[in-house]
Amino acid sequence: MPILYAGVDMEFSERVLLLRVGKFKESDLWIRFLSPTRGVLTAFAFGGSRSRRRFIGCLDIFNEVCIKAVSSGHGAYLALCEGVLIKGVPRLRSDPPRLGIAANCAAFLQTFGVTIDGAQAAYFLFHQTLQLLEEEESLPGLLPFFFRARLVFDQGYALETRQCMLCGKLFQQEKAYLFLKDGLFFCHACSSLQLGQRLALSVQALEALGKTHVMPPVSWGKLQLVPSVARECARVIDGFIQYHVGIHWENGHFVRH
Ligand SMILES: [Zn+2]
Repeated sequence: MPILYAGVDMEFSERVLLLRVGKFKESDLWIRFLSPTRGVLTAFAFGGSRSRRRFIGCLDIFNEVCIKAVSSGHGAYLALCEGVLIKGVPRLRSDPPRLGIAANCAAFLQTFGVTIDGAQAAYFLFHQTLQLLEEEESLPGLLPFFFRARLVFDQGYALETRQCMLCGKLFQQEKAYLFLKDGLFFCHACSSLQLGQRLALSVQALEALGKTHVMPPVSWGKLQLVPSVARECARVIDGFIQYHVGIHWENGHFVRH
């Protein structure tokens, strides 16, 4: 199978998840999708809003679709030739709050960006998050936060939540303190020796944060937190991502600075 290189024509078939679908001209669509081997790409589906035969009702956001794409103009752009629906998300489409969570996760994923090296982990995460939203009755209140945390952890920003990074003491009984500038957790004794902005995290919140690193997202329904613990987790995840990844929420959008 030909491989994707800039400036070289290629063709490939692959299962992807659709992140955005937009219209341009009379009957043409543009599609942004997440590939498990190529990351986030954009392609044009010429005649996409008319051709039922080539796309059989599959060009809608959050569908899992097997696409056939070809690069044109010496690699200048991708054109979608065919699409076959693998799995839709009918429940999501009829449930605006769940659809909103999926849209929020997709927006963060696109702002963060996914490299070819991180594509497989990002695909697994988004695929399982959609499955959770589609099938699980009880969603974790912090689902968008857990999604953001897992995405950045998987892409190289992992946090050590089990022990103090200075003295090695295990956080089994006591609070930990995240120092934002270092992106590290310290125990109470070590934190008193440090300068800088710190965020306290209870044992329960640390445990929940640690689980978001390793639990399959499809089982996150078990992560139901009491409000005070949820607030601690949300503050730490947002603070860490804002400081180290440089993404924050502004006027209804994720912004990277
Ligand atoms: Zn310590």
